[in-house]
Amino acid sequence: MRPAERIEAAGATLGEGMAIRRALPTRRRRLVGAWCFLDHFGPAEVAHGQGMRVGPHPHMGLQTVTWLVSGEVLHRDSLGSLQKIEPGALNLMTAGRGISHSEESPLPRSAKLHGVQFWIALPASARHGAPAFTHHPRVPAVRHGGLRVSVLAGEWLGERSPARVYSDLMGADVVAPAGADAVLPLREDYEHGAIVLDGEAQVGDERLAPGTLLYLGCGRPEVSLRTGASGARLIVVGGVPFEEPVLMWWNFVGRDQEEITRACRQWNDAQARFGEVRGYDGPRLLAPLPPWAGEGDADAVAPYP
Ligand code: MN
Repeated sequence: MRPAERIEAAGATLGEGMAIRRALPTRRRRLVGAWCFLDHFGPAEVAHGQGMRVGPHPHMGLQTVTWLVSGEVLHRDSLGSLQKIEPGALNLMTAGRGISHSEESPLPRSAKLHGVQFWIALPASARHGAPAFTHHPRVPAVRHGGLRVSVLAGEWLGERSPARVYSDLMGADVVAPAGADAVLPLREDYEHGAIVLDGEAQVGDERLAPGTLLYLGCGRPEVSLRTGASGARLIVVGGVPFEEPVLMWWNFVGRDQEEITRACRQWNDAQARFGEVRGYDGPRLLAPLPPWAGEGDADAVAPYP
């Protein structure tokens, strides 16, 4: 069993200026199972100003999982979906071969916005499939050793999420009160990662606060979770290591450069593949062309979205 690895999340900006923490991908780690992108946004004061505003943009080859601790986000997509998400609900968007969507803070809205958006890389069997969007008003929750665990994806602690995923993985929200001392069972064929959304926790031997991904490799039957006086809220993700090669650029997950370049051009040319988002009051986002598509350095490493 490898020791746990601490990976500092990168600071990034979402849409029109919301600062977020990005725990995946980083230079040191691209994936945990098929989870390929972990964004933690907020808590942000959104009573004044514009809140979250992410204009229409495309995706392919992935699923987005959106889950809120507080506040609201309004989702629109090229399938005609118009869905407000609130805490306790799960939005699952399956891009398949192509979809586009926008995300914004609705009016009226709560003063505070806090949540996560994660991406799951689709395997070859599903990545060319039809796009889909599903809103799950609630997900199963279970009490375990004084913790409250909501199962967002896959199965854990005897509960199964209704979210349809395409590889062997799990994701859960864990609320730990002050003074928690629990042991969480893990699947040994999964690798796992944990981030803290709020408070501070000791996961195994590591103290964890917002801004750090704790990576736990395969082969662990369990991990302990303790809190001090503050309590904590965490997200745990896991899955069988994803063996397919993954190339990420901007909002696309693909397998090779040519595929990514083609998607960028198709979106920027407003071709039908990614559809059209209606009703968002703002411009669509344009894809930055990857360095290998032009005169740039063909060996350049893709910057992350
Ligand atoms: Mn998106």
